[in-house]
Amino acid sequence: MQELTHYINGAHVKGTSGRFSDVYNPATGEVQAKVPLANAAEMDIAVAAAEAAQPAWAAVNPQRRARVMMKFVGLLNDNMDKLAEALSREHGKTLPDAAGDVQRGLEVVEYCIGAPELLKGEFTDSAGPGIDMYSMKQALGVCAGITPFNFPAMIPMWMFAPAIACGNAFILKPSERDPSVPLMLAELMEEAGLPKGILQVVNGDKESVDAILDHPVIQSVGFVGSTPIAEYIYGRGCSNGKRVQCFGGAKNHMIIMPDADLDQAADALIGAGYGAAGERCMAISVALPVGDETADRLIAKLIPRIEALKVGPYTSGNDVDYGPVVTAAAKANILKLVESGIEQGATLVVDGRNFSLQGYEDGFFVGPHLFDNVTPDMDIYKKEIFGPVLSTIRAGSYEEALGLAMSHEYGNGTAIYTRDGDTARDFANRVNVGMIGINVPIPVPLAYHTFGGWKKSAFGDLNQHGPDAFKFYTRTKTITSRWPSGIKDGGEFNFKPME
Ligand code: NAD
Repeated sequence: MQELTHYINGAHVKGTSGRFSDVYNPATGEVQAKVPLANAAEMDIAVAAAEAAQPAWAAVNPQRRARVMMKFVGLLNDNMDKLAEALSREHGKTLPDAAGDVQRGLEVVEYCIGAPELLKGEFTDSAGPGIDMYSMKQALGVCAGITPFNFPAMIPMWMFAPAIACGNAFILKPSERDPSVPLMLAELMEEAGLPKGILQVVNGDKESVDAILDHPVIQSVGFVGSTPIAEYIYGRGCSNGKRVQCFGGAKNHMIIMPDADLDQAADALIGAGYGAAGERCMAISVALPVGDETADRLIAKLIPRIEALKVGPYTSGNDVDYGPVVTAAAKANILKLVESGIEQGATLVVDGRNFSLQGYEDGFFVGPHLFDNVTPDMDIYKKEIFGPVLSTIRAGSYEEALGLAMSHEYGNGTAIYTRDGDTARDFANRVNVGMIGINVPIPVPLAYHTFGGWKKSAFGDLNQHGPDAFKFYTRTKTITSRWPSGIKDGGEFNFKPME
């Protein structure tokens, strides 16, 4: 059995706490490795290495720091297949989707190559007589990030690339479900020229998270994961005086107007609802067709598409649409929610409960499900299922559909399918959700914009990546400087008092 490590101060280090967690191959259900779960003493060692290394890194000029990012981008491309394979083996997603996970992180690294421009300060000449005023953005020091299982390459890079480009040291506590790719990323960053101690990976669970939250040296905490943990980390981190941003769960609605191109909408729902087995915070999990006729036509188009979905292991390459979910517990939770939907009166139009794959009977595969006639009081609507389950609520009108998206506690992403610009514009203006798609099902903003939800999907003031990341990972210092004039005409030998 492979024993994974931490990556501390430039070296793979075995865990010393004596606690481990199993890492599965979700396609086969086998335990393929064990990952060490760090305690506070192990976290202290990483923090001390980060604290020692960070001042010299912050003193490296931003252009040289950017060159490390440039080299890292090259290494990511060179190692794309290897990273994607390691990612799929622990996560279960298909190889093309795993490469996409790396790619969307890589794009943020590319954005961070612009650090010299993004870190430029502000300057006011002659703010008063002989007085100049300027602001500079300084690194925070030691930063930490806690990341979820579903994007084990992208989300760590969304955090550590801007943090490090700004001159910070970064401690990553990745998900214990799929820790191998984060370890590989730390190695590649050092191969790209990053000094030891600037990017470290400390594996663990709640114990290591609490060690981060309570550590007096750690200045900021970034978190992505489920909402209850996001709320906990935000509260405890803030009360310990840290800068904290936490991104939580989601229930993303897609409104389908009667004038929409229904083939386009159905295709979009298939990709956004079932891609990555629904394990995406930007997955569409609720379809809101407006009017019964739209609903009937949409369901008729969805059924054959869902029945044609190919579910299988990543080793099938491009020949599979989605893979298993991450653990047996995740599978059990999804199937429990499906049962609750049936009990509470929803119509199960496509039933994936008895899905089984020959040769992979122990894998964590879940067949695709489609519910119709879902109502807002049902658990399948209120809770995040995080599986291949799409719920349909039939809305009587646009206002009713909009009201549903607005009154849900989550507000990560949402979409509308329509041919009417006025409706689309009204929706984008009024809906209280952070990321909006107009005829786009998964509106994940590109690296140079920012990513973040509203309501219970995000806690904190700044979004991830884009310009917000450079605000989150720096502190502003403003200097007022006066240089009394009067020595331009030659030596002045008498000491002049300040005016
Ligand atoms: P999770 O909340 O179970 O775990 C996330 C991280 O928190 C992991 O590193 C885990 O080790 C740690 N953790 C777990 N329990 C903890 C506890 N009690 N105390 C302290 N730390 C703890 O989430 P997950 O299952 O890994 O990821 C799926 C969730 O992440 C979904 O809810 C999904 O919507 C969300 N997500 C959100 C975004 C976003 O940008 N809003 C992006 C991706 C995933």
